[in-house]
Amino acid sequence: MAQTTNSRSDLLERAYEIAVRLAIRGVVILVVSAVLLWILKLVNLYQLWPVAALGMAAGVVIMSVGWFRANRARQRPSLAVYCPYCEHQMMFLAQPTEDYTCEGCHRRVQYENGLPVPVRDLTCPICRASHKVSVKAVRFTCDKCNRGLTLTDPNDPKSIVAEASDMMQNFDVILTQVGRNPTEVALALQDILVCNLPDARRQMEALPLTLVRNVPERKADAIRRRIRELGATAVVRLTGDAAPRPGR
Ligand SMILES: [Zn+2]
Ligand SMILES: [Zn+2]
Repeated sequence: MAQTTNSRSDLLERAYEIAVRLAIRGVVILVVSAVLLWILKLVNLYQLWPVAALGMAAGVVIMSVGWFRANRARQRPSLAVYCPYCEHQMMFLAQPTEDYTCEGCHRRVQYENGLPVPVRDLTCPICRASHKVSVKAVRFTCDKCNRGLTLTDPNDPKSIVAEASDMMQNFDVILTQVGRNPTEVALALQDILVCNLPDARRQMEALPLTLVRNVPERKADAIRRRIRELGATAVVRLTGDAAPRPGR
């Protein structure tokens, strides 16, 4: 799946987990070798002690490597980056240079030539809701009143026109396939459906499952993207429409 090139905090966590597992393996080898030494002594084969000693030494080495790696993983410098849309703090190992999805609002934070695309405040001319929108975007949807908004002059944030209200359309997001990470999908569903984990798992068993109904396009797209990043399949369709949206 498309992941950002810059590792996130969860990569750090994974490195730490692997290191801890290695350390535990070292301890197990050490203990098993010690027991072996004791048994050799018991059955009068004590002359074989170098075998057990070698095992113990290997255990100590593996344990130390694990310990060292766990410490190093914890001490990796991390950098706090704030989402330009929602100010959510994300941890990176280095300054991100490519698009990433914010863990707070699940919007795509865009980068161009290694630099973040600036975001500006736009006000919906119909409902006066203010939005943070990438300066690259000339069209977006107001998620308050759900109108499509277009900038007539890309350089003037005040030149916004709204689409006619009969263009207002909402969408449903339907989960069709869970994919290879059912646990991660269940965790996401817990959040999207606002339920507990066993409940999310139970609902996942009866597909297709409608995740959200009657939401603005941008929100529907964000949920679908989030589900897709977990390897699952979701479709977006017009609320009240039987067929999935073409090309979705
Ligand atoms: Zn955000
Ligand atoms: Zn609006």
